Amino acid sequence: MSVSRLYVEADLVTGGEAPLGEAQLHYLRHVMRRPDGAPLRLFNGRDGEWRGTFEARGKRSAVALVAERLREQQPEPDVWLCFAPVKRARIDYIAEKATELGAALLQPVLTRHTMVERVNLERLRDNAIEAAEQTGRLTVPEVRQPVELATLLAAWPTGRRLLMCDETGGGPPIAEALAGLDHAGRAAPWAILVGPEGGFAEPELALLRRTPDVMAVGLGTRILRADTAALAALACWQALVGDWRHPTPRLAVDYRTAKARG
Ligand code: SAM
Repeated sequence: MSVSRLYVEADLVTGGEAPLGEAQLHYLRHVMRRPDGAPLRLFNGRDGEWRGTFEARGKRSAVALVAERLREQQPEPDVWLCFAPVKRARIDYIAEKATELGAALLQPVLTRHTMVERVNLERLRDNAIEAAEQTGRLTVPEVRQPVELATLLAAWPTGRRLLMCDETGGGPPIAEALAGLDHAGRAAPWAILVGPEGGFAEPELALLRRTPDVMAVGLGTRILRADTAALAALACWQALVGDWRHPTPRLAVDYRTAKARG
């Protein structure tokens, strides 16, 4: 039987209990038809991965009984994805794929040409949780409130490198830029920034070019959609700076995840 892997908020200790949400209960009981005692894998972003079992408590609530730790919590690449929000289906796609690609934080950025006003953060977070459950990572990316580009840069954390995808040819090819990093560059915290469908406005490009820690790079001669560019840049970063440089054992468990809540 495939094993359902769930993100829970509770601390994970042997003999402990982790309350399950309504959507998790519905999915386990009515979609996956899991019986009481069904095996689970649990993680909370802090305590590693644990073995557990499903236990219903009446019709409308259930818990995961926590048994033993299977994996220690591991450090994960510190790379943020800052992106101008795009329309609904594609922003969900960005959240899901960026989670699979190991983004530590998702930061929607409002720019002059951003065409989307409101971002459904709860849905983004649900997509990120479901992708994290499926992909076997031990954390869920933090999803932040949208912020204006100038505000983001004014409060930019010192020392975090910002890889800005510049479709106007303002930087070297991404592979050349990242392959040429020294040890400090590879060890630094990073972020990737991608503009909106309409691209960055001139004043935004000028602001970015005079912001310390910003590195403009190109993603080839073709103009990529914002979601394509975000994920392509994240993949290049993982391959040249992140954890795709290290051979990693394939996770042995075939996960069937709990569907998004709600
Ligand atoms: N201004 C163009 C447009 O209106 O179609 C390009 C915008 S592009 C769809 C959205 C964002 O993806 C850009 O702001 C940039 O961050 C990134 N991007 C797309 N193609 C790129 C490329 N070839 N090199 C670097 N970045 C690219």
